[in-house]
Amino acid sequence: MVIGAIADRLGRGIEDATHLVSETFFEPVIRLGVTGLSRAGKTVFITSLVANLMDRGRMPGLEAASAGRIEAAFLRPQPDDTIPRFDFESHRAALLSPEPHWPEGTRQVSELRLSLRVRPRGLIAGLSGARTLHLDIVDYPGEWLLDLALLEQDFTTWSRQALTRAEDRPGFSDYRAALAAADPAAKLDETRANALAQAWSGYLAGARDAGFSDCTPGRFLLPGELEGSPVLTFAPLPEGASPRGSLAREFARRYEAYKSRIVKPFFRDHFARIDRQIVLVDALGAIHAGPRALADLRHTMAGILTAFRPGTNNFLTSLMGKRVERILFAATKADHLHHSQHPQLTAIMEALLREARDRADFAGAKTAAMAIAAIRATTEETREVDGRSLGLVRGRLLDDGRAAAFHPGDLPDDPQVLISPAEAGAEAWLDGDFGAMRFAPAPLALRPGEGPPHIRLDAAAEFLLGGRL
Ligand code: GDP
Repeated sequence: MVIGAIADRLGRGIEDATHLVSETFFEPVIRLGVTGLSRAGKTVFITSLVANLMDRGRMPGLEAASAGRIEAAFLRPQPDDTIPRFDFESHRAALLSPEPHWPEGTRQVSELRLSLRVRPRGLIAGLSGARTLHLDIVDYPGEWLLDLALLEQDFTTWSRQALTRAEDRPGFSDYRAALAAADPAAKLDETRANALAQAWSGYLAGARDAGFSDCTPGRFLLPGELEGSPVLTFAPLPEGASPRGSLAREFARRYEAYKSRIVKPFFRDHFARIDRQIVLVDALGAIHAGPRALADLRHTMAGILTAFRPGTNNFLTSLMGKRVERILFAATKADHLHHSQHPQLTAIMEALLREARDRADFAGAKTAAMAIAAIRATTEETREVDGRSLGLVRGRLLDDGRAAAFHPGDLPDDPQVLISPAEAGAEAWLDGDFGAMRFAPAPLALRPGEGPPHIRLDAAAEFLLGGRL
């Protein structure tokens, strides 16, 4: 074992011990990780979850709520002083204003503590009073989990894989041109280095917009305050000579710095402390973008899930004192589909995850797949079209505010009908297209005690928090 790993383990051990003490003797804490690729719906999910835990009228599927055991829920200062606070109040105000709009999405890690006063269940209910339980919600970009794979790869291997993946994706031509103009074996020139890094970021952003999700280094897309720093100023290079002082040698060094200064601290400080995890997936978005985007999503999901199987990565194994107990894979934005198609969406999620689940279990974690909408922005209606009754969803379009009814296409009963062509590299779906609409959030008039409307958010909460409430 390398020294770094030993030090990591010691550090964690001490911290875990203090956590354990405070959890045993004082108030229990659940750390809930919320992740997913950019625009998967993390911000909307957390906002609606917290609002619906504070006002529980729409949470019948959460046993502690329906049994009336949750006496109160209130926001408290979070335990970690250096992590930005999840801006619940602004996000909630955006969704509940008279002219509601979607909040700004996740750009970095953030945290929120919701404390719950809960009466125990069953026999001991009469013996002890309500206790306080803290729910620490940690929001972080799923792109960062993909960086885990980099820890096992050196610069040459990562470069080779990243360039191969990029070759036939949109937006790669600019990077190819930047590469052609550079000589990696020549002396480092910061202007050239910057041009390459920018071209690679541009390619990653283009690939992501085209529906591809496997885009590393993850921090290039959401650089935050690190923008322009040397640790983000590198890019993959074709194999070749890398003499001392050359661009190639420096890029390889920066790649290593990226791993040790950015990737590892994230896993150590945030990821390794999570108890329960939800991974949000915009499966409908990928299906709409086409077979290649779906294949890529499947591949990316497998990459993300590697992080939850500590045995598969040496660094992670050395870190994980405790295990993630439950992982929920949720297809988001189910309100874009009539409920008659929700089972098909769930089946697609299950199929996307089966491969990863089959390869190794998640170190004993309980897993489930679901189709949810954190906020329901549509209503449903049925229409007769060509003698067939069609389930539609109606909402206000985000682009122009018009009301529209929409049928996105029929999802197949058998997910393989989509997954097989995706894996075979098909360019387009055989049986027509799947449409996508962006709906604006609907204006809400909430009754006292009610949170925003949703689909199966209560079932998701029951899976994630159940057993601990
Ligand atoms: P993040 O990048 O993962 O934080 O994603 P956001 O939470 O910002 O969500 C991205 C976008 O997806 C939002 O701006 C909405 O347009 C859409 N969205 C997210 N959740 C829902 C949902 O439950 N229903 C609907 N209709 N749209 C959603």
